[in-house]
Amino acid sequence: PSFLTHLPLAPKDPILGVTEAFQADSNPYKVNLGVGVYTDEQGKLPLLRSVALAEDQINTLKTARGYLPIEGLGRYVRQVQTLVFGENSPVLQEGRLVTVQSLGGTGGLKLGADFLRWFHPAAEVWISDPSWENHRALFEAAGFVVKSYPYYDPETHGVDFDKLIRTLEGAPRGTIVVLHACCHNPSGVDLNEAQWQAIRAVVVERGLIPFLDLAYQGFSQGTEKDAVSVRYFSELPIPVLVANSFSKSFSLYGERVGALTLICASREEAQRVQSQLKRVIRTNYSNPPTHGASIVATVLEDSNLHQLWEDELGAMRNRIRFMRQALVSCLKEAIPDQDFGFVAEQQGMFSFSGLNLAQVRRLRQDFSIYAVDSGRICIAALNEQNLERVVEALTQVIR
Ligand code: PMP
Repeated sequence: PSFLTHLPLAPKDPILGVTEAFQADSNPYKVNLGVGVYTDEQGKLPLLRSVALAEDQINTLKTARGYLPIEGLGRYVRQVQTLVFGENSPVLQEGRLVTVQSLGGTGGLKLGADFLRWFHPAAEVWISDPSWENHRALFEAAGFVVKSYPYYDPETHGVDFDKLIRTLEGAPRGTIVVLHACCHNPSGVDLNEAQWQAIRAVVVERGLIPFLDLAYQGFSQGTEKDAVSVRYFSELPIPVLVANSFSKSFSLYGERVGALTLICASREEAQRVQSQLKRVIRTNYSNPPTHGASIVATVLEDSNLHQLWEDELGAMRNRIRFMRQALVSCLKEAIPDQDFGFVAEQQGMFSFSGLNLAQVRRLRQDFSIYAVDSGRICIAALNEQNLERVVEALTQVIR
């Protein structure tokens, strides 16, 4: 016997498990609403034209693939800072930002978690209830005790803001608070500007450490507006962490392009922070890959490609909004005594549909329509070909 002889089987990932079950289903009319990716009106994962054109440019250069610096591609890092913090950002101009390229948004969160675990080890990490299912596991894997703060209220389909604020007011000093910058996953319910301001005030008063997760910049109102929460927090004289991702906004899921940024008190502090972050990276994977970052940098640096990308991102955003409205109006006709208007108000790819576990199971068994057990459905997986079938099935299971 070895140390592996009694190794238990790990539980399946709740979301990737849905996709495995979907792939094994032979029903030709099956629909996967469990995924976390944007698909177009044909149900296909898009390759953006801006990305393809940038790749053409990169290919003609035929550059060799040396190691990148530990912190990543410099051109990319600069573009991340401009996009996330804004061109005229004071923290950017004052040299107080430290940005490192990361393996997607997940990688940015994990670098931040490992960094915090080294230098702020006694803190707890608080995540929203509910949250992206990897938040808890990721921070626990980094060694933190993870707790949650109230967020979604199923009664109102909104944020239970009073409870949220009261809970944060009771957080121990130094608590790391993970906040979804926009397009809350899984609920689709976002905070408004007044609520962000109120959270910001509590963060300062209680000496909390905000860690913003910006995985969907551009999927709610546009790249600038979706970063307002980041901009609010960057006005504060406290450390702030931001993990951002281009997986969705560039449809570059498999290239693993993201970043972690820390806002520091001074240029000198930023240098010390960067040196330690480089150590975290060096002992994990040494340095990041080249391709995805050079695509994003090439697009964002070139005004034409940049505009093309903004247009393509806008088209994704608008298609999702259109499908939300279509779903709501079809459901209104099919089930007139229930109000699904809240679905049209939600932001980003996801919707907490209000389906319970029994309904989710029935959708799967009787109709080959796959949702996450929590009732989360991906609106970006709806299209005009599958909408009718989805509405019919929803009507059957809800009635
Ligand atoms: N945070 C949230 C809230 C997410 O929804 C996701 C992606 N599902 C991520 C982070 C990670 O994104 P990436 O694929 O870039 O690692």
